[in-house]
Amino acid sequence: MNKSIVLMFHEIHDEKWFDDTLNHLSRKYRFVSATDLNEVVLGTRISNGICHITFDDGHVSFYNKAYPILKKHGFPATLFISPEKIIRRENYWFQRVRSFSKAEFHHYVCSQIQDKFDVELGKYGVYSILKSMPISVINNFIEGFRNIKNLPEEEFINIDVDQLLEIADSGLIEIGAHTMNHPILANEDDSTARFEITKSISDLQSLIKRDVRYFAYPNGQPVLDFGAREENFLKESGIRLAFSTSSDQLKPAYSLFALPRIGISKGSIGYVNRKIRFAKHWIGLRNLMHRTTEDKERKILSQNRRNL
Ligand SMILES: [Zn+2]
Repeated sequence: MNKSIVLMFHEIHDEKWFDDTLNHLSRKYRFVSATDLNEVVLGTRISNGICHITFDDGHVSFYNKAYPILKKHGFPATLFISPEKIIRRENYWFQRVRSFSKAEFHHYVCSQIQDKFDVELGKYGVYSILKSMPISVINNFIEGFRNIKNLPEEEFINIDVDQLLEIADSGLIEIGAHTMNHPILANEDDSTARFEITKSISDLQSLIKRDVRYFAYPNGQPVLDFGAREENFLKESGIRLAFSTSSDQLKPAYSLFALPRIGISKGSIGYVNRKIRFAKHWIGLRNLMHRTTEDKERKILSQNRRNL
């Protein structure tokens, strides 16, 4: 039997790929809701052969492409979103940065904060640098760059409140919290980290008029992105399960507040199977093959950062 897994998706570009992939996986796994997963995991009877589908952020392709296919098959899933972004119709910071000229934005960011670091920032990727910063600093960079370049307001690319309410009322999709502003929680002070977590849960509950029992950490790498402090805030807020982006199958050793997920976005069935089977080692192989990765760069930057 296959080890049980949680899958993580973001945007769906190709509906046929999503449909084919789920069809194939449904022969090997039983798709369960977060509530059923919670009972299985909490019962410490991590039975083999179950799969829970999760989506992060709430890109509109969830509503247009993934949701119809999930409904067609009756496959449950959890969608993690920020109530703040949906209510205000604002894109997440990493979505806003996407349309920027990467080289120019990189240069701008480095010019703004080189004096805060003991290493030469130009050698590090712009995402590595941004993910070493509190969200207020990231947002200042984005606004500063937009002003200098006179960039127009970007189009909102996530689901709206009506779509969210329709999904929440479907009985098939559970809505989970994903902070207010998608910060790297580990970069925030105690009060900001607490606010980002607890307010996202309470605002989401008021919006969908249902209990919110599940949470996904932004970026989601244990230690680099969150730790015991965040897990405690979640426990205080009544969250039952929280998901990381550590790539692995479900194993009893994992905390209920840092369950691993295997990210999938493309590829043949063979590729998807290999990614699931070698989940943990897949990342190790990638790290071996690439001289530097974002995680490695972030570790160096965090060690060489002066107080912001
Ligand atoms: Zn996210």
